[in-house]
Amino acid sequence: MLPKIIWKGSPNYGLPRGTQGRNGYKVMAIVDHIMAGTLIGTDTWFNNRDSQVSAHFGVGKSGEIHQYVDIKNTAWHTGNVRNPTWSLLRPTINPNLYTIGVEHEGQTGDIITGEQYQATLTLHKWLIDQLGIEPSSETIIGHYRIDSVIKAHCPGTGFPWDRLLTDLTQEESEQVEQVNVIEKGILYNAFRYNGETYVELRAYTAQDNKAVSWNEASKTAAVTGGKLEEIKAIIEG
Ligand SMILES: [Zn+2]
Repeated sequence: MLPKIIWKGSPNYGLPRGTQGRNGYKVMAIVDHIMAGTLIGTDTWFNNRDSQVSAHFGVGKSGEIHQYVDIKNTAWHTGNVRNPTWSLLRPTINPNLYTIGVEHEGQTGDIITGEQYQATLTLHKWLIDQLGIEPSSETIIGHYRIDSVIKAHCPGTGFPWDRLLTDLTQEESEQVEQVNVIEKGILYNAFRYNGETYVELRAYTAQDNKAVSWNEASKTAAVTGGKLEEIKAIIEG
């Protein structure tokens, strides 16, 4: 699904400036950045020819997405290559030619807001679909993977790598469906997740004076006093 995007534009694209396309190269990865500033400030900076920088997108803390460069064109977001740790880097080719740049509003170390996360997740999903990228830790990377010296803190420790990669790679295998569970004549609202059936534990233990204890380490609920001694469950709220 195409996320809601506000076009802002930038004169800083193409090699050399103004060249359409990617000089024959195909996009291999999305590079995530932190603005170290605001969305509005970034709009101004990328619209300034003298800044000589741009990215394809900027994602605000409110979830607003701005676009500066068409995805078929080459933005200027990767800077120089210094001590790279990215396996797909092609040493003699400017990485701007085969990457998409996504900036995020905030300072390095900021925890991404919920709205910002949902916006960048939607944007990443759309880009992956548009560009035929297989999401992995080598195709969804931080700027620091290209420049580990000057850009070591881009996008920084607040960026949700694990959550983003999990949401991008596991969604298709996730299947949640509502099912009914009846035990001893009592109907429980339940759901099936990846082939296993779960009931809401609060409703289950409210019957028959059952008691429950929760082991956080093993994510296991032990139920005593009922017919089942132990069930796996997810506790809501
Ligand atoms: Zn960066």
